Amino acid sequence: MDMSENTTTVTVKSDGDRLMIVCDRDESKFFVLDYDSYCSVARYYGWQPCKHGCETDGSVNCSHHKTHEFELSAEKFLWDNCVGESIDDPGWFID
Ligand SMILES: [Zn+2]
Ligand SMILES: [Zn+2]
Repeated sequence: MDMSENTTTVTVKSDGDRLMIVCDRDESKFFVLDYDSYCSVARYYGWQPCKHGCETDGSVNCSHHKTHEFELSAEKFLWDNCVGESIDDPGWFID
């Protein structure tokens, strides 16, 4: 599959303390992840908020988990599985 010139990828990077999303086409463009963004970013990398089949995206409690647990789970998922991994830009770095 060849990459269209319009395809921008993004990569999870770490400076040791923080996680960030970096635009691969222009590494001066990045944002640092925090508890407001872990869940939404992790979902693009395949993280599931609740494995019991709940519909939540991690921003609201389900009957099994509170949002704080989702944030911690998503942060751990990103640290454990995603540093150095790239995905197509979901629209975070549109010019
Ligand atoms: Zn669950
Ligand atoms: Zn649930």
